[in-house]
Amino acid sequence: MNNIPFFNYQYFYQQYSSQLNKIFNDVLSRGAFILQRDLEEFEDKVCEYLNVKHAIGVANCTDGLQLAVLAAGIGPGDEVIFPSHTFVATAASIHYSGATPVPVDCGEDHTINIESIKQAISSRTKAIMPVQLNGRTAKMDSIMEISKQNNLIVIEDSAQALGSKYKGQSAGTFGLAGAFSFYPAKVLPCFGDGGMVVTNDDVMAEKLYALHEHGRNKEGQMTGWGMNSRLDNLQAAFLNFFINLYDDQIVSKRRHIASIYQDRLQGNPHIHLPPAPNSNAEHFDVFQNYEVEFDFRDELQQYLTDNGIGSLRQWNGKAVHQWQELGMNASLPYTDKMTNRYLLLPMNISLCDDDVNIICDKINHFYEHIIGSSHACKEEVV
Ligand SMILES: *Cc1c(COP(=O)(O)O)cnc(C)c1O
Repeated sequence: MNNIPFFNYQYFYQQYSSQLNKIFNDVLSRGAFILQRDLEEFEDKVCEYLNVKHAIGVANCTDGLQLAVLAAGIGPGDEVIFPSHTFVATAASIHYSGATPVPVDCGEDHTINIESIKQAISSRTKAIMPVQLNGRTAKMDSIMEISKQNNLIVIEDSAQALGSKYKGQSAGTFGLAGAFSFYPAKVLPCFGDGGMVVTNDDVMAEKLYALHEHGRNKEGQMTGWGMNSRLDNLQAAFLNFFINLYDDQIVSKRRHIASIYQDRLQGNPHIHLPPAPNSNAEHFDVFQNYEVEFDFRDELQQYLTDNGIGSLRQWNGKAVHQWQELGMNASLPYTDKMTNRYLLLPMNISLCDDDVNIICDKINHFYEHIIGSSHACKEEVV
C-alpha cells in the first residue's frame, strides 16, 4: 500500500531542524519579537527578489489584501471584480471594505478570464483583483490595459505566486499593490500564519504601513485609525532562511515535479493538464498547486484514496459564487463546469520522483483498465 499524503506538514522542520533550532534559539534569546531586524531583513529580501520598492510584513495574506483595499480608498458603493475560482479570502477582503465583490469566470489555465472582466465592468467598478492562481500569473498586460482604459485600480492576490512571472515581471508588482501568503502549505512557508503586502507606490506604502501598525507611522506618530497586523519577527527569521533556498530547492523542485506529471499524463483525452513548465516563454509558473481537470473525477479520487494517494478539491470543491451563504448570483460557464472536474494532485517538495511516478502509474491504470480510455481501446484492437 502506498502512503503518499496530499501534503506533509512535518517535512520542513524534519528536513532543516538543526538550522531552524538555531534560528529559534537566537531570536528568543535576543527577545526580538515585534518589528525587529529579522523582519526588516526579510522585507528587504522580498523587495530585491520581486524587484519592488516596498514590502510590509503582515499577519497573513488576507490582511494584506484587506489593508491594500482600504489604503486604495475602495469602499461602500464600489464594485471590485475578482475570479470566482479562488479562496474566499479574496472576496472577503473586498467585502469587509464595504465594497461589493463581483465574481467572474476563469479560463483554461484557471486564472481570470479577460473577456469576463470586460463584461463585468459597470459604472460602479472601482478595481480588479486578479488571483495569481496555482503559482501562475494571469495575463497582466491585458489586465493593466483594461485598468488604464477604465481608470481602475489593480490589486493582485498573489498568495500562491511568490516568484511567478509574466513576461519577466513578478506577480504582485503589476498593480497598485499585491499580497503574498506564507501559510504552511504555501510555496514559501512559515510555521503559522504570515503574509506580505508589496507596492511600488510611495504614498500607498505609507498608508499600508500605518494601517498595519495601529495607524502609526515609522516615527510612532498617529496618522489616523489603524489595525494590528504585523508579521512576527520569529516567523520572519524562519522565512529569511527559507527564502535563501527558495529558487534552488523549492521552485525548481516544484517545476521538476510538474514536468514529470506532464510527461507521464499528457495525451490522455480524459485529462486536461495545467500548462507545462516550459510550454510558454511568457509565463514562469512556480506550481503552488498542480490542478488538473479529469473526466470521472469522483471515481478517480476514490481510486487514488483506495491506493493510499492523497488529493484535494481546492476550497472544498466550490468556487466562491457557488456558496449560497455568500449571496452571490452568477453563472460562470467555465468555472461551473470545471468545479465538477478539478482535482489537485500532490505537489510539494517532500515528494520524490518515485512518488510522482507511482501517482501517474495509478492514474494511467485507472483510465486504461478501470474506465477504459480511447488509448486502451486502440491497443486492444491492435
Ligand atoms: C492562501 C490564500 C489566501 C489567504 O492567505 P492567508 O495567508 O491564509 O490569509 C488568499 N488567496 C488565495 C488565492 C490563497 O490561496
